[in-house]
Amino acid sequence: MCAAVAGQRGRRVLLIDHNDEPGRKILISGGGRCNFTNLGTAPDRFLSQNPHFAKSALGRYTPAEFLALVERHGIAWHEKTLGQLFCDGSARQIVAMLLDECAKGGVDLALGGAVTAVDHADSRFRVRYGVREAEAPALVIATGGPSIPKIGATGFAYDLARRFGLKVVEPRPALVPLTLGGDEVLFRSLAGVATEVVAKCGKAAFREAALFTHRGLSGPAILQISSYWRHGETLAIDMAPDRKPGWLREAKRQQPRTTLRRAIAGAVPDRLAEALAEHIGIAAELGNATDRALEAAERSLAGWRFSPNGTEGFAKAEVTIGGVSTADLSSQTMEARRVPGLRVIGEAVDVTGWLGGYNFQWAWASGWAAAQAI
Ligand SMILES: Cc1cc2nc3c(=O)[nH]c(=O)nc-3n(C[C@H](O)[C@H](O)[C@H](O)COP(=O)(O)OP(=O)(O)OC[C@H]3O[C@@H](n4cnc5c(N)ncnc54)[C@H](O)[C@@H]3O)c2cc1C
Repeated sequence: MCAAVAGQRGRRVLLIDHNDEPGRKILISGGGRCNFTNLGTAPDRFLSQNPHFAKSALGRYTPAEFLALVERHGIAWHEKTLGQLFCDGSARQIVAMLLDECAKGGVDLALGGAVTAVDHADSRFRVRYGVREAEAPALVIATGGPSIPKIGATGFAYDLARRFGLKVVEPRPALVPLTLGGDEVLFRSLAGVATEVVAKCGKAAFREAALFTHRGLSGPAILQISSYWRHGETLAIDMAPDRKPGWLREAKRQQPRTTLRRAIAGAVPDRLAEALAEHIGIAAELGNATDRALEAAERSLAGWRFSPNGTEGFAKAEVTIGGVSTADLSSQTMEARRVPGLRVIGEAVDVTGWLGGYNFQWAWASGWAAAQAI
């Protein structure tokens, strides 16, 4: 995006990527259909040490603008849920669109050569890549974060930024499945069971599906909350978000001969109901359980505590939280405050979106903002 816009503004642009094909993360995104933006984009859907940083770029290059570009290229799209826009066809169309925009801007593409050296002297950047070298007054770091190393993702942006004296906020995997150990390992036997929950960690809460896996917890609600979760913290999962306080006591009055398991099975899938009832430990018919015990059961179900022992790491994380500190960058131009001509955009920056097209919108918007100032 940045290369295309800068090129179309008349700049001579060289785009270097060490992969043999460009945009590999776009190709695997959104299950191959690329969730390219979110209509609900707003700064509060991004995590950063400076929550104000993303406002300027997001405000100047909006989802409507990206959508207009998609439509100009005749790419059919649909809204899946929660403002998430996907291609009807394939993520390849988004890569083709960006390449076409680059071609319109006369961008030169250098694929397949690793960047081996970057020097800065006399206000010029010299980049060695493969056996070649290029020199320019401006350098944009757009190499993303280390999530999914097997498709060529690296922490190169952080190494380079540090060499220029920029601070890096500790990178960690985000939008990532969480793993369970200890007694919670028993929940792994539910692998494949999904249910709608509200997942909470601190002040953050997401109502979406959660999925039990053979390693722990996944599904959109868990991926979302993983960005807020830190080692040692506990998650609270509302297993039955549509049930109002008093629902089990009401069930006792209506169906005193039913079991806790059967009552819970009205709210969650059977296998999960069985596991939850077993953990709560009320085997008797509801009519024989005390109101106090049922109230405690309701409370447990409304805030089931999980203490994940970790995440599935960068190998499975959709994004990397943290990155080049916004304190060292201009929010208008993405330029490093102390290194004129150096810019950092996209996921490499300490701005991380929720699941649902927000991360691409940040990549487009920050790339566009940087290109305006080159
Ligand atoms: C499985 C998966 C699905 C996703 N789905 C979505 C989605 O549907 N919607 C959404 O908004 N976000 C999604 N994301 C997140 C989104 O893909 C990223 O946030 C986004 O691609 C970041 O864009 P970027 O340009 O900053 O970095 P990237 O897209 O990662 O691009 C960085 C480029 O730099 C290159 N590079 C890296 N290191 C070097 C180096 N040392 N030398 C030269 N080149 C290098 C890479 O090859 C890569 O092409 C998904 C992520 C994953 C992993």
